[in-house]
Amino acid sequence: MQDTVASGRSQVWQQLRDNHFDLLVIGGGITGAGIALDAASRGLKTALLEQHDFAFGTSSRSTKLIHGGLRYLKQLEFGLVKEVGSERAIVHRLAPHLVVPEKMLLPLSEKRGLGYWLTSIGLKIYDWLAGVKAEDQRRMLTRQQTLRYEPLLRPDDVSGGAIYAEYRTDDARLTIEIMKTAQRHGAVLANYVRVEDFIYHDGRITGVKATVDTGETLEVHASVVVSAAGPWVDQLRERNHSRQGKRLHLTKGVHLVVAREKLPVRQAIYFDVDDGRMIFAIPRSRTTYIGTTDTNYTGTPEQVVTSPEDAAYLIRAVNATFPSVQLTLSDIESSWAGLRPLIHEDGKSASELSRKDEIFESDTGLISIAGGKLTGYRKMAERVVSLVIRKHFAQRSFQPCYTDRLVLMPQPLSHVQEAARYRKRLQDHLPMVPAEFVEAMVESFGTQCDIILSDVQQNATQHDVVLAITRFCIQYEYVQHLTDVMVRRTGWLYFNMPLVRESYLYVAACCQQLLGWTDEQRIREEQALLVLMREAADFHQQAN
Ligand code: FAD
Repeated sequence: MQDTVASGRSQVWQQLRDNHFDLLVIGGGITGAGIALDAASRGLKTALLEQHDFAFGTSSRSTKLIHGGLRYLKQLEFGLVKEVGSERAIVHRLAPHLVVPEKMLLPLSEKRGLGYWLTSIGLKIYDWLAGVKAEDQRRMLTRQQTLRYEPLLRPDDVSGGAIYAEYRTDDARLTIEIMKTAQRHGAVLANYVRVEDFIYHDGRITGVKATVDTGETLEVHASVVVSAAGPWVDQLRERNHSRQGKRLHLTKGVHLVVAREKLPVRQAIYFDVDDGRMIFAIPRSRTTYIGTTDTNYTGTPEQVVTSPEDAAYLIRAVNATFPSVQLTLSDIESSWAGLRPLIHEDGKSASELSRKDEIFESDTGLISIAGGKLTGYRKMAERVVSLVIRKHFAQRSFQPCYTDRLVLMPQPLSHVQEAARYRKRLQDHLPMVPAEFVEAMVESFGTQCDIILSDVQQNATQHDVVLAITRFCIQYEYVQHLTDVMVRRTGWLYFNMPLVRESYLYVAACCQQLLGWTDEQRIREEQALLVLMREAADFHQQAN
């Protein structure tokens, strides 16, 4: 496989050099992936370049919810709630194994929050704007019912509650599945290729100069260049001398992961904290994760980490809400920190800034898109590609956008029962592998588990399956580094740190064999992973 992987990469670079593309997308997060899929499926000859791994930026560091954004209702952003709310059901249909319905508990307190009636009306409007099916619409709860749903809540602080519908996802896996679907529609995609500058002809952008992580350089030519560079959008606008008018305002959001038994909430919960913000605690496999913070950020987008202060803020919020829990910094198994690429508005604090997306066009033709939500990626892509076609390809005919019908997997598990039957079949096939691990694998890979397990015997252990997943990701999912596997293809560094500790040496050895690394490279890869592991969990050391 080593030759195939290496030659596959250089063939892609050759394709990038040899072709003239209709559209070149900079940035391999969910926004860039969505644009590449929309454009390629409508018939535009499309390429996409990502400087690190796909989903390296914000798109692997969100709260991992496909949600309507209840807090945006508070900011009276009805249009945003309606658009992303309605998108939830569509994205669920496109990737049912990966976008899973999740009921959210909203406890109410007499001291904080909106109170019973305002919440009841707010959630009703939320359901109505999002077109939620009758059986999934919000249900208001009495104090006793709320405490039965979540006995860990502080009884003297609960005045009632509500249950409403959201969806849980894995942001990085959603991004990678959109990328693979774009590739099936003819898009040429490359990770670890950084756009350094633009090529101009008669004052208009006609392509980009890029460097590959191997040191090679590429010139890629295209009729239109779109920057979907998330927190890096302004850096590219600067390079294009077009950073005028509106600009980005980056805010940092942190999530912590603890073992499920340390914070055994019965279902996802969205609770008020004393400073007026709201925080999620979401059970996932063997863990519960908690987030998020929202603070101004002025550092480099390349290296965003959880600080001991971020961690302490979230731990205080949890301990105040669930008094029997009493988490400490040493309970944190993992964490992640991401940047919201929001649009700056004078006089507004981090939490008050709109989450709406905006498109900027420069005089030289660079189109940049920033802001927005994971949940709204499809509509953002539709807007960008429609603009590109209207302005640059009006004389050619293209299909209208149909990504609402493009499933993100050849054989999707179309409903919850089907997923449960599929999971059961795999669990029966793998009696020696923990059921929880198989369940997480099905949520990550859906029916692609059949390909992963095609050369795995019935008496296989978890070790064998971990290697089979690694081989699959290398062969089909553009893996170049050990951290690509551990962080963005599997999420193990977030949700299964014990497995990362136990497996990283043999996963690295597998990567070495398939990607043709030298021993020195393998050691560098292991060390890079160890640094990430420390950054994600070791707050005492950082504090010293
Ligand atoms: P990114 O994912 O950052 O992608 C941009 C990419 O461009 C990066 O990978 C970067 O490496 C690449 N790039 C930059 N410069 C170059 C260059 N010169 N050459 C090549 N590549 C380049 N939304 C939801 O819907 N649900 C949620 O639950 C949710 N929770 C969130 C929680 C937090 C803490 C945060 C920060 C955001 C959350 N969001 C959520 C918002 C959502 O995650 C973002 O809107 C979305 O991920 C942004 O994606 P993007 O593709 O625009 O940016």
